Parts: sequence; C-alpha cells; structure tokens
Amino acid sequence: MSKYEAVIGMEVHAELLTESKMFCSCKNAFGGLPNSRCCPVCLGMPGSLPVMNRTAVEHVIRASLALNCSITPNAKFDRKNYFYPDLPKGYQISEYDLPIGVQGYLDIEVNGEKKRVHIRRVHLEEDTGKLEHVMGDESEVDFNRSGLPLMEIVTEFPPDMHTAEEARAYLTKLRQILTFIGVTDGKMEEGSLRCEPNLSVRIAGTEKMGTKTEIKNLNSFRAVFKGTEFEIDRQIALLESGGTVIQETRGWNDVKQQTFAQRTKEAEQEYRYFPEPDLVPLQITPEWIEAIRATLPELPDHACERFVTEYGLTKYDAETLTQSRSFALFFEETIKLGAHPKMSANWIMGEFSRLLNANNVDINDSKITPKSLVELIGLITNGTISGKMAKEIFEKMYEAGEDPGKLAEASGPQIKDSSVLETILDEVIASQTAVWDQLIAGDEKKFGYMVGQMMKASKGKGNPQEINRIITDRVARDRANSG
Ligand SMILES: [Zn+2]
Repeated sequence: MSKYEAVIGMEVHAELLTESKMFCSCKNAFGGLPNSRCCPVCLGMPGSLPVMNRTAVEHVIRASLALNCSITPNAKFDRKNYFYPDLPKGYQISEYDLPIGVQGYLDIEVNGEKKRVHIRRVHLEEDTGKLEHVMGDESEVDFNRSGLPLMEIVTEFPPDMHTAEEARAYLTKLRQILTFIGVTDGKMEEGSLRCEPNLSVRIAGTEKMGTKTEIKNLNSFRAVFKGTEFEIDRQIALLESGGTVIQETRGWNDVKQQTFAQRTKEAEQEYRYFPEPDLVPLQITPEWIEAIRATLPELPDHACERFVTEYGLTKYDAETLTQSRSFALFFEETIKLGAHPKMSANWIMGEFSRLLNANNVDINDSKITPKSLVELIGLITNGTISGKMAKEIFEKMYEAGEDPGKLAEASGPQIKDSSVLETILDEVIASQTAVWDQLIAGDEKKFGYMVGQMMKASKGKGNPQEINRIITDRVARDRANSG
C-alpha cells in the first residue's frame, strides 16, 4: 500500500450532434476545407446576433437526466471574457452560475468494485476555433469549429476518484452513456470528446488536498490512463524528494509517455463573467423536461442487466453488447426474429465485430441485417450448413449483402450421404489411429477431435448431425468388437 493517495477530478467536453452550430446556421461537421463553414456570427463580427440552437439545449437536458442531475429551470448563458486567437469575439458564450444540469452522478465498476462518481455540473457552451501550428513560428486559424455546441461535464469537488483505473472507467462509462443517448458521436480521435483530468496527491487518510495539476490534450482512453498514472507517480516522487508540486497545466507527450509543463496557473483566471445580454435566460419547464425524459432510451447499465436476466447471457457478453446502442439494438432485433441469444451474441461479438473493425464500418452501415443473421443461424441449427461453411457464407453476406440461403445453395450441397461420410471416416481413422484407439479405450474427449477431423476432411461440407451419428455408431461397433 502506498502511503499516498491521489485525488482525481475530470472535465470532459463533448461536441453535440446537431445539424447546425450553437448560435448560427452554419453546418456542424468535422474536417473539410478550413474556414468553409463560417458566418458573421461564428466569426464574432460586430453587430451579429446569436440565435439559440434548441436541439443543443435539449441534448444537454437529455444528458443531464441520463447522468442523474437536477435541471436548473432558469439556466442562463454568460460571457466568459478572455483573449485568444481562436476566439474572435474576445469572449466565449458559456454558462457560469446557472448551468443546465447540477448534482448528478454515474456509477463505475473497477476490479469488481462498484463506485459512485458525483458530477457537479453539466453545462452548454460554444466551441472555439482551432489553431494549426504550421512551419516556423506561424500559426493558422480554422474557424469551422468555432461556435459548435459543446457540453462540459465536471465532476464534483472534492473528487471521488483515486486511481488511473477509476479515471479511465469514468470516461469509458461517460462516453458509453452519451453515445447511447445520441447526444455526441464520442469520437476522441476527432476531438468530439475531450478530457482533462486534474489531480493531486496527499498522504493517505488525511483530508487536506495537495496542489493539483491539470492534464490537457488526452485523446484516447489509453492516454487518459497512462497520463493520469504518470502524473500520480511524478507528484509522489516530487514530494518524496522534498520538492513541491506547482499548480500548472501539463500536456501529454504520447511518444515519450510523459506529461510536461505547459503553463502555470498563478491564480484563478479572472474571466469577468457576466450574463449574455443577447440571449434571454432559458425557461426549462417541467413539461419540457418530461417530454425529453420520454425520449431517453434504455441506458446501458439497465440493458446489460436485462440481457443477463432475460436472455441468460454472461455478464461479459452483456457488457460487450451494450458498449454501443446500435449493437444492443441489433442483438435484440435478432432475438425478436427468433435467434438463439447465445448464438446471436457469439456471431455479433465474433465474426461480425471482426469484419466491422477491420473495415472500420459502423454496424448500421453494414449489409448484414438482423434478419439475414437470423437466417444464417437457422441454417446452422437445422443442420443445412456446418459452422465452417457458415463463416465463409457470412463473409460473402458481409461483402455482397446476399441472402444466406442462396449462398448456402451456391456453395455446393452438404454431404449427408452416409456412405460418402463412412468412406471419409475410414480415411480419418487410418490417419489418426492413435487418437481413435484412445477414443475406443474410453477417452471421450477425443470425440470432438474426430468430429473436427471429419469436418476438415469434408472441407466443411459434412452434415454435422450425420457426422456425429456415424462416429457414434462406429465407436459403439469398435468398442463391441474390442470388448
Ligand atoms: Zn456561423
């Protein structure tokens, strides 16, 4: 046990999934030619006026509800004043003292232990532009991102998290919930989800908090884990050697796997917040909240539990299938169409996921439909095709979107003829005499091996039920003869 304890809080920014930007009608999209999606509003031209994006507000209410927050009925927007080249107005529209969501929580599980992480606030703001550091000392600024609706989620103070594992689990769960309810695409690599852990260390068992540092620019779960772990160790080593931790913002070098000093925070920056005069305060009525609550889908934790109790899946399978809503929906659709839950789960998490990942395709954009997967599973269970053939057919279904029944016919008839299978069995026994003798002598584990050899010898076309029957008969005969 270390004599130190880390205390970790986290700020997460999520770009919201809307058609247009927060206060103008410019398109909300990623990439594209720099400065191709800008207008006087998101470029901060004098005299331009912001118009609130209702969908963005509803997304933040939706997220707040999913994160068990109370909703502030009279939430309002404020100006956060500071100068930076990516912020042409000289202020950012944000929410200061009356954020939309307050006092929520989410539950995480680390090494089998459940833990509640309290959330202080969920608020809505606009994103800034983006600086591209080009050759030499020059920087170019792209305002396509300027004015995108951005949600910020801040953990409660004092923070509940104490380890890098907990920090990673929190971010993983948060991302899962936010993508499940459809408020963000959660793409960390595109910056749609950005995370800044802040942490300090103290002697375990004491109350007084140490000086904290904040880590910026972490764009993967791995970086969050590694960055947090590194920073905890760095602070402990510093204290152990008699040094002091300086309050500062630190960057993360993914190549060196180290944090590095960026800028010190002498004091809380003075942002001179004041109410945004161009926007009226929100009036979030109970009716509006309930209407939004009604649109919330089943949350991942609940779906996961239900998959275990209703379909008899293992906790691991249920957790994997509920990592994304589209996977969970796909799975449930196959069950409705009559698939065996465990078989469907195995196909979705196995072959299907492998192909989707290899081609970087979303399950919703795939040519495999719940119906076609159920048909394929049906062909396996009624013995029309073997597991090996099924894999080949599945790949063709994936590529061409063809009907599994037609593909099964086209790939040649199954071998059901017992005389043909008997001949194959003769050959297999001849090449596997030692194994066969062990089976005859009573080693039942060798049965499956022989089935596998038969499948191989028949190039996956042997009918599994027939193969089973023929081997069973032959074993009985040989045992009778040897006894
Ligand atoms: Zn605009």
